[in-house]
Amino acid sequence: MCGIFGIFGHPEAANLTYLGLHALQHRGQESAGIVSTDGSQLYAHRDMGHVAEVFSEEDLQRLPGHAAIGHVRYSTAGGSHVRNAQPFAVDYARGSIAVSHNGNLTNARELRERLEARGSIFVSNSDTEVIVHMIAASTQRAVQDRISETMAQTRGAYSLAFLTEQSLVAVRDPHGFRPLCIGEVDVPDSSEKAVLVASEGTSFDLVGARFVRELHPGEMITVDRKGTRFAQALEPDENRLCIFEYVYFARPDSVINGRSVYSVRKAFGAKLAEEHPANFDVAIPVPDSGVPAALGYAERSGVPFEMGLIRSHYVGRTFIEPQQTIRHFGVRLKFNTVESHIRGKRVVVVDDSIVRGTTIRKIVAMIRNAGASEVHVRISSPPTQWPCYYGIDTPTRSELIASSHTIDEIRRYVGADSLGYLSPEGMLEVVGSEPHPSQACDGYCDACFTGNYSVPFDDSVPPRRLRLVGF
Ligand code: AMP
Repeated sequence: MCGIFGIFGHPEAANLTYLGLHALQHRGQESAGIVSTDGSQLYAHRDMGHVAEVFSEEDLQRLPGHAAIGHVRYSTAGGSHVRNAQPFAVDYARGSIAVSHNGNLTNARELRERLEARGSIFVSNSDTEVIVHMIAASTQRAVQDRISETMAQTRGAYSLAFLTEQSLVAVRDPHGFRPLCIGEVDVPDSSEKAVLVASEGTSFDLVGARFVRELHPGEMITVDRKGTRFAQALEPDENRLCIFEYVYFARPDSVINGRSVYSVRKAFGAKLAEEHPANFDVAIPVPDSGVPAALGYAERSGVPFEMGLIRSHYVGRTFIEPQQTIRHFGVRLKFNTVESHIRGKRVVVVDDSIVRGTTIRKIVAMIRNAGASEVHVRISSPPTQWPCYYGIDTPTRSELIASSHTIDEIRRYVGADSLGYLSPEGMLEVVGSEPHPSQACDGYCDACFTGNYSVPFDDSVPPRRLRLVGF
């Protein structure tokens, strides 16, 4: 997963991009970068780390111009190395082009082999570099045509923002796997408006911009000195917006496909309460990801909600591991219990998903240690059984506990009195109930829950190992 941002027509383009990337930080913490242009050349700065670490004031001053694109990366294809940090920028016969990519190409290896056979030399092992090489190799004249030609050959998931010396171009793949929205902001001392694109609209709030709409699957937006133009670069294919954006990935204050992520998460919790009710005294979330769903679960059950677990937001890496001496050390570094709201109570604990089962297993033990009389686990999505090949960092199938264990086996492993997952039907009912007037996609990808992969992928390239922060 990654976050992308772009702006055209603002004297503080790089500064606004820097702020926008802060609001997208949850989408990738591995590396960050910005490329800007003043109309004659591109300027770039990227490095490993969080946005606040990567850019100093001087770095931003070295990114002049009225247009910029930015990226935060959470590597899915290609390793964790500064060479893979984005935006990627190249010089070619017609000038320079930079790209920020959110998603994962499923035919990157085949495309790369074809390009290498024709003499392209790659500096990274990221699938995004394939895109810029294809654009450079295209025989089309206009950059939009080069991009459309490239899109016609790439498969899989991509929301892309491109920057040339003269223009900002952004596109969404024909399935609409990854979100991409458009905004506008007033330019100081001018009647003009600058145009923005971003993975999530929350980044517009931070820079005082207005959300305009989401880009449609296969659609392209071009912004340059002549104005803003939209084109259907590729015919939309079966719409497959990633449902995991609602489950876990997007910020709850974002609106995706016309729906508030927070409201959808709450509705998942309410549906879960209907599907898997429990006799209990208090519902507590695993913070932060389980909060809206736990609120929905508690509200629908008519039982109090409490923040029975408190999360530390300042956990970094630690060198000491007091092995047997302090029990549950790893989990306590990140979470602690509020014993007064747990002791003697029948607790429902709600999280958004179980991957390997490590987190929830430790949390159940902690809640029992704090004196709960019963611990019931409720998960606001279906069992995660299949790896994602479309841009979410998941472990291999064998590491996903639900791929090889029954619900009751998982319940025993995590040590819960009962375990209930939201059904795939319940999840789709929540997001698909009534088409939202401003929705851009009319269908969802739920492959991680159902194994229903709509775009073929090269499974000789295993998905990368999931690295969960804090454990
Ligand atoms: P696990 O401990 O392996 O079962 O992981 C489950 C926890 O990881 C839950 O608290 C989820 O909110 C979180 N999670 C789920 N998917 C991801 C992901 N792709 N990246 C990071 N964290 C995730």
